[in-house]
Amino acid sequence: MARKFFVGGNFKMNGTRESIKAIVKNLNEAQLDSNVEVVIAPPSLYLLLASESLNKTGVSVSAQNVYDKPDGAYTGEISVSQLKDSGIHWTILGHSERRTILNETDEVVASKTKVAVDGGVSVIWCCGESLDEREAGTTVAVVEKQLAALAAKVSGADWEKIVIAYEPIWAIGTGKVATTQQAQEVHEAIRGWLKANVSDKVAEETRILYGGSVNAKNCKELAKEKDIDGFLVGGASLKPEFVDIINSNL
Ligand code: PGA
Repeated sequence: MARKFFVGGNFKMNGTRESIKAIVKNLNEAQLDSNVEVVIAPPSLYLLLASESLNKTGVSVSAQNVYDKPDGAYTGEISVSQLKDSGIHWTILGHSERRTILNETDEVVASKTKVAVDGGVSVIWCCGESLDEREAGTTVAVVEKQLAALAAKVSGADWEKIVIAYEPIWAIGTGKVATTQQAQEVHEAIRGWLKANVSDKVAEETRILYGGSVNAKNCKELAKEKDIDGFLVGGASLKPEFVDIINSNL
């Protein structure tokens, strides 16, 4: 089964009602490659504004995080069932900003992923190494440890609801994109790990996105690599060039 190219826009804690409406309007009016699945992730306060303003097939809305407990006394959190109730069928989980700033461990991220997929919400699951880890030559080991924590929680058909985003931390928001070779090497290692530790089917069918300073200029080269199945885009997803990234294969 061919893997459908996937482009996610992670707005992080950016945007206003006005700017988010403008981004959605731009997407509504753009010519988008129909072979690409597009997901935009505004801050939770604007999820409904984004989904209600969207009228484009092939584009959906994602949360940036979700809690792994049923509805109840968890001040400040949002549940999987609340996302579903609001028509939101995606969430990003394990972004490095949540892992490092909010101290989410591999296990917490894996637990959230399991609860999300069980509740019918698909997950853009992020992994990646720091600059120190890359310089120490431990990139693949770090990513494999993150994957192992995930694979300990999810199984079987759960994987159909998971997209993996490889995001080297040193490339996020820095303008320092990984070379196509650096990205392809890690993507290939991730696919190899899935084949060895999960199944041939999951290795073959799971989309592996690259994230970290992707822009309209560098996306085409990255998209040519055989194990790069799309992108998770931060800064550039707030700009009109996001359309060029979605259309990187045209
Ligand atoms: P960036 O962020 O494109 O701004 O580097 C990517 C991400 O954090 O998902």
